Amino acid sequence: MLVVEDERTIAESVATRLRAEGFTVEIAGDGPSAVDRFRTWQPDLVVLDVMLPGFDGLEVCRRIQGDRPVPVLMLTARDDETDLLVGLAVGADDYLTKPFSMRELAARVHVLLRRVERAAAGGPATLTVGDVEINQAERRVLRDGVEVHLTPTEFDLLVHLAGRPRAVLPRERLLADVWGWAEGAGTRTVDSHVKALRRKLGADLIRTVHGVGYALEAQP
Ligand code: CA
Repeated sequence: MLVVEDERTIAESVATRLRAEGFTVEIAGDGPSAVDRFRTWQPDLVVLDVMLPGFDGLEVCRRIQGDRPVPVLMLTARDDETDLLVGLAVGADDYLTKPFSMRELAARVHVLLRRVERAAAGGPATLTVGDVEINQAERRVLRDGVEVHLTPTEFDLLVHLAGRPRAVLPRERLLADVWGWAEGAGTRTVDSHVKALRRKLGADLIRTVHGVGYALEAQP
């Protein structure tokens, strides 16, 4: 796992906790070295602070997600910063606002990893909805034969929607099933990821059912 954080005490605390959980951890202290380390080492998960020297966590997130989908847990300084990032749909899979407990951090990391493993293990190998083809084993998506790069969370959300085409899935249920969040708060995270899916796969794919949730439209 790669921990990207320029505040030494936070970086060390996070690394120590994750090592105690049995993970191999490295630390990068700025944007450029984080991207370099990601490319050479290929970690399974990235814990990423927003405010960094060089370039910020948003830019790091864009660059690494462009290379290869990886779960990203973003660390933010304030709740309003989290809200802003959720709205921007930068491609992070989860957010943790400082100050956070190391227990909370470890719990979020495990949830993220379980989601990726579960998605890789279950379900039919390929789901096809209209001209969208989803290969679950390789976690790749093609639209009209052209590969579309999705983040791990975007991929999981698409698989959930595609598993029941045309069914209206409430936002709270998607939040529970895809993100593993039991409480209803955070449904805007769902909206943000739907927005990203529409941007990447076309606006016509996912229908909004106002006040309820979303449904994947199977094109005839
Ligand atoms: Ca920082």
